[in-house]
Amino acid sequence: MQVPYFATGDLQEELDAVAEVLSSGWLTTGPKAATLERLFAGACQADHALAVNSCTAALHLAIEALGIGPGDRVVVPTMTFGASAEVVRYVGATPIIVDVEPGTNLLTRDILADAVAAHGAIAACIIVHYGGQTPRMLGEDGILTYCREQGIRLIEDAAHAFPARSDAGPVGSVGDVACFSFYANKTMTTGEGGMLVTNDEDLAARARIMRLHGIDRDVWERFGKDVASWQYDMVAPGFKYNMPDVNAAIGLVQFERARGFRVARQRIAERYLDSLADLPEVSLPHTEIPHDWHAWHLFPIVLHPAAAISRDRAIEDLSARGVGTSVHYRPLHRMTYYRDTLNLTPDVFPNAEATWRGCLSLPIYPSMTVAQVDHVVSSVRAVLNDGPA
Ligand SMILES: *Cc1c(COP(=O)(O)O)cnc(C)c1O
Repeated sequence: MQVPYFATGDLQEELDAVAEVLSSGWLTTGPKAATLERLFAGACQADHALAVNSCTAALHLAIEALGIGPGDRVVVPTMTFGASAEVVRYVGATPIIVDVEPGTNLLTRDILADAVAAHGAIAACIIVHYGGQTPRMLGEDGILTYCREQGIRLIEDAAHAFPARSDAGPVGSVGDVACFSFYANKTMTTGEGGMLVTNDEDLAARARIMRLHGIDRDVWERFGKDVASWQYDMVAPGFKYNMPDVNAAIGLVQFERARGFRVARQRIAERYLDSLADLPEVSLPHTEIPHDWHAWHLFPIVLHPAAAISRDRAIEDLSARGVGTSVHYRPLHRMTYYRDTLNLTPDVFPNAEATWRGCLSLPIYPSMTVAQVDHVVSSVRAVLNDGPA
């Protein structure tokens, strides 16, 4: 039996929606993107949602709109994809790469407080809802509480976290700004795409302008629709980050399916949790929030040093049994650019190091059958005991 690491499942409805856009003659940003923004803001219980062409673009717009720049320090967890840190360099600021909490791989209040103690003033913190789980936001040990006390802007890299919630409500409903990904293998997709969500009026206004070449469309629209479309003004050297309607049409169908997708992933996660719980050489993902708050984008397991085989060998042996896996992540402090420019050494990241040595992510997506989930389970059990098929 083959179980790829990810499969999109049936996309007939999405195909029909794209065909409709193509026949309409309006291919770039238009009514589909506007509708997706309105629905997404509603789901996040937020005032503003801006559709863009990637989560990376959303993160860039967020950090730019917050006015972060050269001389500013921005805390980023090491257990993430490069996009979370590269946007800090885009605006000329300095990433402070920090370790994560063992078990959850989250950046918590205490880790942020340690970074403040070690480095002094921090302008912003980018937290990653690793695998779809949120950290505690409110109360004494809440990271949002701490950011508010310290005047630190909180950017949520919510690439794994739609739909998900924290103790403060849906992701995007509190905090300064949350950035979602609609990349092909994320929890909902537009092929490529992303969404910036915020309640901050000024941030939304700036990001809206910078998303499209620095064109102040609100000003232009004040003149009325009878003004020719060549009459626009540019107030900044903006970017080209808008989401075309071709993609937004896919997103509208996926948005309607997203809640069902999440439930399907939760069922798979719970089946894995039940059927792998007795393996002594494996840590399963540790959850501190109720299962139905979790987006379950990833199911990362960690092989202990005492396991019969190494992580790399487990990946090969699983592949020989038809099971695709992935690794989340080779930590940023092990990436040449961040290691060399920030002088990072592994000893500063003991939790991420321990996870990195043993981590692999099992397939978890709505189109998986129960038989496929069970094949993954029996394959994991087999490779840890008997080696390859
Ligand atoms: C996928 C991902 C991104 C980037 O998303 P894009 O839409 O591809 O730009 C950023 N952060 C994390 C944690 C991701 O997994």
